[in-house]
Amino acid sequence: MTVNSASTSFVDRHIGARREADVDAMLKAVGYDTVDSLVDTAVPKDIRQDSPLELTAALSEVETLTELRKLAAKNKTAVQMIGQGYYDTVTPPVIRRNILEAPAWYTAYTPYQPEISQGRLEALLNFQTMVQDLVGLPIANASLLDEATAVAEAVLMMRRANKTAGQKSGAHDGKTVLDADCLPQTIAIVKGRAEALGFEVEVADLSEGLPDGVINGVVLQQPGVSGRVFDHSEVIAAAKERGALVTVAADLLALTLITPPGEQGADIAVGSAQRFGVPLFYGGPHAAYMAVQKGLERSMPGRLVGVSKDSTGLPAYRLALQTREQHIRREKATSNICTAQALLAIVASMYAVYHGPEGLKAIAETAHGHARTLATSLKAAGLAVRHASFFDTVTVSVPGKASDFLAAAEAKGINLRGIDADTIGISTDEATTDAVVADVLAAFGAAVADAGSDAGTDFRLDAAVERSSDYLQHPVFHTHRSETQLLRYVRKLSDRDLALDRTMIPLGSCTMKLNATAEMEAISWPEFASIHPFAPDSQTEGWRELIADLEAQLTEITGYDQVSIQPNAGSQGELAGLLAIRGYHHSRGEQQRNVCLIPASAHGTNAASAVLAGMKVVVVATAADGTIDHADLNAKIELHKDALSAIMITYPSTHGVYDADVREVCDAIHAAGGQVYIDGANLNALVGLAQPGKFGGDVSHLNLHKTFCIPHGGGGPGVGPVAAKAHLAPFMPGNAADPANGADGTPISASKYGSAGVLPISWAYVKLMGGRGLTDATKSALLAANYIAARLNDFFPVLYTGEGGLVAHECILDLRELTAKTGVTAEDVAKRLIDYGFHAPTLAFPVAGTLMVEPTESEDLAEIDRFITAMISIRAEIDQVAHGDFTLADSPLRNAPHTAAAAISTDWNRGYPREQAVFPVHSLKQDKYFPPVGRIDGALGDRNLICSCPPLSEFEN
Ligand SMILES: *Cc1c(COP(=O)(O)O)cnc(C)c1O
Repeated sequence: MTVNSASTSFVDRHIGARREADVDAMLKAVGYDTVDSLVDTAVPKDIRQDSPLELTAALSEVETLTELRKLAAKNKTAVQMIGQGYYDTVTPPVIRRNILEAPAWYTAYTPYQPEISQGRLEALLNFQTMVQDLVGLPIANASLLDEATAVAEAVLMMRRANKTAGQKSGAHDGKTVLDADCLPQTIAIVKGRAEALGFEVEVADLSEGLPDGVINGVVLQQPGVSGRVFDHSEVIAAAKERGALVTVAADLLALTLITPPGEQGADIAVGSAQRFGVPLFYGGPHAAYMAVQKGLERSMPGRLVGVSKDSTGLPAYRLALQTREQHIRREKATSNICTAQALLAIVASMYAVYHGPEGLKAIAETAHGHARTLATSLKAAGLAVRHASFFDTVTVSVPGKASDFLAAAEAKGINLRGIDADTIGISTDEATTDAVVADVLAAFGAAVADAGSDAGTDFRLDAAVERSSDYLQHPVFHTHRSETQLLRYVRKLSDRDLALDRTMIPLGSCTMKLNATAEMEAISWPEFASIHPFAPDSQTEGWRELIADLEAQLTEITGYDQVSIQPNAGSQGELAGLLAIRGYHHSRGEQQRNVCLIPASAHGTNAASAVLAGMKVVVVATAADGTIDHADLNAKIELHKDALSAIMITYPSTHGVYDADVREVCDAIHAAGGQVYIDGANLNALVGLAQPGKFGGDVSHLNLHKTFCIPHGGGGPGVGPVAAKAHLAPFMPGNAADPANGADGTPISASKYGSAGVLPISWAYVKLMGGRGLTDATKSALLAANYIAARLNDFFPVLYTGEGGLVAHECILDLRELTAKTGVTAEDVAKRLIDYGFHAPTLAFPVAGTLMVEPTESEDLAEIDRFITAMISIRAEIDQVAHGDFTLADSPLRNAPHTAAAAISTDWNRGYPREQAVFPVHSLKQDKYFPPVGRIDGALGDRNLICSCPPLSEFEN
């Protein structure tokens, strides 16, 4: 598998340590002669796949892009006026090129290490501030996955929150009521979640008032899918009177003109930020948002950026209230969401920074004006327009003529929304022009009504809902109006951060590998990016071919029978897989099977997802060697045998080891009538070597944003395909926008193909690598992890190993003994690595007091050695603490990371020289990264929760 230096294949560029000399040096350190002998020892024989992957042969970058061009040419772009939650928008080129297409932004990791993430945290804080202002609520999170699932999260949150608040009225047990004018995909997603959890949902026209009965929570949509805008204040007041909580799904652009939900008394606002500059992407990825009233923040799902202070008292950003998240709370978490839509939230926030409040309002007024012209002109032509008050969407009655008019519009390159045989919806947006309006009208056989006619007064927004309050008053939304200034702002923020374009990100379980430029290029081509998810099939042939092909390749790779790429994160893949298991048991009349066994070491999303699937979580103990405790497993199987639904195992385990007995575990579960869920987030250790669908799994999810090269985006987007055996295929995710088609399982994402927009990345990766290349990548990942384990074991003992003392694709470094002896913690080491220019490994997962390292196949030996050198140097500093050269409190470890300001301060009086503080190894003198802030006080930020942009004066210090 080694090559000479003249080679030009993509595989040789994707794999970092590929030269023979490098591979030999690494093998020597691990004690093997060949990569295959290492792999044969590490991977248990009884799970090895017996034949190589049957994929298309590897293509070059040029060939791959040519194939993508052909697929793109099979899609037809159109003026998208379908609406229903998705709108044409203009991504400002400065934002497209310098954020969406800029590795400094898209290769960043989730900002768990805040000191090296201040840039993206500021951008996300801008997003939160923008949402808070527009919806009129005090606390917003940093994004959710899509609008429909955000509503589902809000519904579940209302149910949690009303447990205490609604006690007296009995509302906590009541039903959830959705307005009939909510998006159809929203209604389908909420119903699916409610079915799994066993609560009642009623859909009713709330402009007529609330239905009878006990109500837990109410969901309204502003504007409704029909375009209707009505004053919600009465319904909201009536709902509160009856002890219910209220969520409003609201359009952010409309809110520049319409009274925000918060001012009307809503408890929660949710929605999509797509039309703030994020391409349609055939349905996703887009950032959803959620904002809440004070008092609900601790119950809110998703990540939340807060303001705290660093070690010198300067304001510094960090993720707040992380204890709500599944990593810590597991089955008691507020939600299973982990990866969200950070990159898209950042794009949306920059769109607001770029346009400012006046610009956004002007865009909204123009769209509204075009919609009014359409309504006035259609009315003048004798057609009935359904609502008198709307923002951007006109619903028009065309008895018996819908398909004719839709076809006439399509012939002019315009997509409208066919609601039924007699009704059409038309949505205007930022891209609508006078010419488009004229074309739409012509399709209806109408003409633009006289400018002098009643366009001035007809179809005005109801005065009762006209917005009077200010928004986006913070200077950040006013000071970057010129492109020069905005470009510098974008660059300034990314320069504060460490992403993959500057350093390896050795995060266990997250597989931060190369996101090749050739893989990324196609995503912003208009033939992929500007397709509406509900465009007619005749316009989306290329998309559907690409998706079907990717699903087929993933089926072959995993050894399952069917794959659905709909779930838009790993957590959602888990939910999809568990709901498939549930559907299967129910179809066999085994409704009582609701216990899900989960090993103690599992990722937090596993337990949280099981709860959302209506299952009861039973934890299985981990043995001292990190494997599943078989005695405990058998006891739990015996105890719950009649109620056993599934086990969720991660393979290789979260300990980075191939447990030799995985088949045994699967057999025991199957024998008891249960199903096996294999969390495939660690598939980077399996591709080409073993297939979960063949060694005992019934269903798995994969993370394309880990193994298959979709960049992490600072915390999303992601794609979490669910892969299943044939018996579970009938329960794979259905289509939320077409729920009448009852043949499929519960829909998981708002749109049928989830985060379709980023699938060309994984498709390209598979084509570029071919079966051989993918298998080589896995082997190289194993070699790199074992090389690090072998080199560092004497300095930081490797906690778990499998056969032959080998690890899989990652290793856990145990700091606990050093901590006991010296007080230096794993966190100190993580922060000290910043001074060496590195992103920290995974801290404290799955074992507290440890660091988990995953180099991936993409890192060169030189970069891996740079990391090893840093770790060995840090170990020497720990020894200096042990020897009393300096106290822990006065050590470069506890004081890490060191800012430039700290290092050149005139009152330097530490027990170690400045040189050691900032240039602990020589190579740093030329290439030094200085974090913008010192170590951040996390607890302070949680005690005094501040989640919007602080005034600039706070930074003058
Ligand atoms: C990353 C990960 C998940 C969750 O995936 P998201 O896309 O973040 O929701 C689940 N399980 C394991 C083992 C993981 O590493």
